[in-house]
Amino acid sequence: MSDHYATLGVSKDASPEEIKKAYRKKARQLHPDVNPSADAAEEFKRVTLAYEVLSDTEKRRIYDATGDEQGRAGGFGGAGFGGFGGAGFGFQDLFDMFTGGQQSGPASRVRQGQDSLINVSISLRDAVFGVEKTIDLKTAVTCQSCQGEGTAPDTHPETCDTCHGAGYMQRRVQSILGTVMQQVECPTCHGYGTVIKHPCAECSGKGRVRANEPVTFTVPAGVNDGARIRLRGKGEAGLNGGPNGDLYIDLRIKSDKYFNREGDDLLTTVNVPMVAAALGTVIPLETFDGQQQVNIPAGSQSGDTVTLPGLGAARLHEDRRGDLRVRIQVTTPTNLNEEQRTMLRQFAELRGENLQEGSHVKQKHGLFSKLKEQFK
Ligand SMILES: [Zn+2]
Ligand SMILES: [Zn+2]
Repeated sequence: MSDHYATLGVSKDASPEEIKKAYRKKARQLHPDVNPSADAAEEFKRVTLAYEVLSDTEKRRIYDATGDEQGRAGGFGGAGFGGFGGAGFGFQDLFDMFTGGQQSGPASRVRQGQDSLINVSISLRDAVFGVEKTIDLKTAVTCQSCQGEGTAPDTHPETCDTCHGAGYMQRRVQSILGTVMQQVECPTCHGYGTVIKHPCAECSGKGRVRANEPVTFTVPAGVNDGARIRLRGKGEAGLNGGPNGDLYIDLRIKSDKYFNREGDDLLTTVNVPMVAAALGTVIPLETFDGQQQVNIPAGSQSGDTVTLPGLGAARLHEDRRGDLRVRIQVTTPTNLNEEQRTMLRQFAELRGENLQEGSHVKQKHGLFSKLKEQFK
């Protein structure tokens, strides 16, 4: 003989409320929709029988007194009570009651807004120093006309006639336990339990409208290309008082005409005429920090660099900056006139340079760095 109290996991003096609660908890775990195994089905039957008996005051009394599993009065003319699956309060009723009782109610119209993702291009200079930017964001904002409710002025969502406000309907379906009731979303109100009969003209009942919203955000100094900034609550507006989504901003750093970035350093190249490179000079250079004087040492070669410390990009979240490296490109004079050619030949003679001379340059870099160099 099975112990109904043990089956439900309650004590002998459990209240009807405790029994109901215990049954619902068990039934939820064993519901064929959740747990389609044969064992679960068997257990479900046992749990349901236990509940059927213990939830009925009279059956429970008989069960307690006689131990009859179905709470039948046996020889005492029990026809009026009805057993498991019999007339009266049967299995199907329990199932209906279970599924009905577990309904969470109509869906709320309150919704969180969607997150948005946008790309924003900034200049290299803004990446170096950081900047506060304001952009015009095309987004969904709460409809001011209906305050997001989606209803015409002085009207509100009305109870759905199809489901009478439940938001769902019962459907009979076949399962291993026979016919069971299943809930389906109400096709009229889509689960809300209410319908908007008079939609707001401004937003067509959506509760939101598209609009341009100015959004201000801070780009930190030293930010890298592809960095993502998250602005909480700056995404699309929620519905019916739901919170806004978040806004994500992917930063792209535009390439600069004169400066490249390598880590925290900035790189630039200056053309220096051959003679100036040979003799040494000081040239003015426009940088992100204004005009600087760059000292080109005598005898500078193409590819030599001069470093201006602290004029590079900021280090993210650090109070220091990288360097500005100025690469020297020595320019060979072109379009020489006859006099200039003569002078250069004399110059070469004075230097003892053979005009048919030339030699291999030892490779400083591997092939990969060479390629990298080319792409810069
Ligand atoms: Zn509206
Ligand atoms: Zn409905």
